[in-house]
Amino acid sequence: MTLVLDPLSPALLACLDHAYIDGQWLPVTGSERLPVIDPSRETVVAGLTGATGADLDRAVAAARRAFPAFAATSVAQRIAWLERIEALMQERAEALARMLTLEMGAAISHARAAHVPFAIAHVRAAIDVLAAYPFETLRGTTATVREPIGVCGLITPWNWPLYQITAKVAPALAAGCTIVLKPSELSPLNAIMFAQILHDAGLPAGVFNLVNGTGPEIGGAMASHPDIDMISITGSNRAGVLVAQAAAPTVKRVTQELGGKSPNVLLPDADFETVVASGVMTAFRNVGQSCSAPTRMIVPRDRLAQVEALAIAAVAQIRMGDPLDEGTVLGPIANQAQFNRVQEMIEAGIADGARLICGGLGRLEGLSQGFYARPTVFSGVTADMRIAQEEIFGPVLSIMAYDDVDEAVALANDTVYGLGGHVQSRDLEQARAVARRIRTGQVHINHPAWDAHAPFGGYKRSGNGREYGLPGFEDYLETKAIVGFA
Ligand code: NAD
Repeated sequence: MTLVLDPLSPALLACLDHAYIDGQWLPVTGSERLPVIDPSRETVVAGLTGATGADLDRAVAAARRAFPAFAATSVAQRIAWLERIEALMQERAEALARMLTLEMGAAISHARAAHVPFAIAHVRAAIDVLAAYPFETLRGTTATVREPIGVCGLITPWNWPLYQITAKVAPALAAGCTIVLKPSELSPLNAIMFAQILHDAGLPAGVFNLVNGTGPEIGGAMASHPDIDMISITGSNRAGVLVAQAAAPTVKRVTQELGGKSPNVLLPDADFETVVASGVMTAFRNVGQSCSAPTRMIVPRDRLAQVEALAIAAVAQIRMGDPLDEGTVLGPIANQAQFNRVQEMIEAGIADGARLICGGLGRLEGLSQGFYARPTVFSGVTADMRIAQEEIFGPVLSIMAYDDVDEAVALANDTVYGLGGHVQSRDLEQARAVARRIRTGQVHINHPAWDAHAPFGGYKRSGNGREYGLPGFEDYLETKAIVGFA
């Protein structure tokens, strides 16, 4: 097959009713049409045919057959494949970025600067971890051997689609596992391009398989599949729980990267002129559709008026509109259902008595088509309100006030989630002390650069397991003790 280089090239369109199984694009046996919608124009850009359980069985069987030989490949061989994947992703970076803009509305500048390079960075991180990993260690007479867990079912969401795919696929391949990937049915086209990259990188047939379809049908069948050894899902809590329930009878390993309601604690000594604006931008990055978006800004009560003024000024600077325009910072919400959810939560904020200080219900002024939500900030938000507790997944920020640092920490920890967290302070020691008290899988001090090796995942209902870097790689390994080895 020719290279899938351009969004909606004939080669890509030919893959829409196929699954990538055992090194080939095979027609799926299903008939359900799944439309892919450009959220900036509300037009159907492609129609996918959903796979069936029978297609999934073929993919799992291929992965199962490929596993023994792939698990036995050398570290050097796997590094060579991963480096080829990294190079091909770099070569096709612009086409990947354009595809993300088309199918989930990422602003092209953001797709180029974050979605695609960060996705590639996961591949590089997996190579670096693999190159130095001690698969066999000895303690006394016992050897501890780490081995690939087997066939991995990987289920990914639409919000950072390619990034979430490589965060799972790269470490799984590095570990020596074989894979069946089911991306989100709402943004599946980048996954088709990615599958073609793995094909062109020369991975052995059956090592990587792609099956498109809906969550309940294909994702559910993966979770309960007796020949899948591990399932890793990134998505909503609802889907994460269903996957764990479906997986339980086969006792497979389940890792879950789920929702969040992350706090951003501004300590009294922070440079408010800077950190309020950066806090707003971090919360609204990717139009707020990030699991770890810091959507609760927790600020000293005596600075509330200043924070509100600075937040309004920061929102006024955001350029929102056509994601293909290079000057656009935020494009539309990625799909209609999510746009409706954002509207529902803005209504809830108003109904619960929060003070709307900018934005609000409806579409961005002047735009009659496209799922453009208005960047919205509420102040006077209290912990009992829905907008303080529930993930919104849109450009909606809740400002909450505290009287002392203990109250700030208590507010930060007062949700069922525990994914991300932020602390802002000029005093690093103080920031570290607060970071240690926040019960989340990551805490960022003063908006540091993104780190592909920093373990990522949730405390509490934000998930189980860790992705990225060393722990993300080790999630794909089994542990065997050989006692009497020495
Ligand atoms: P979603 O739960 O609707 O879908 C995620 C994936 O799960 C999709 O591939 C979907 O088809 C599949 N799925 C849905 N129902 C399923 C079922 N019953 N069985 C098996 N699979 C099923 O989530 P979404 O709307 O695509 O993504 C947004 C959510 O993902 C947010 O809650 C966000 O916080 C979360 N997320 C978490 C992380 C993280 O790393 N913690 C990262 C990104 C997104």
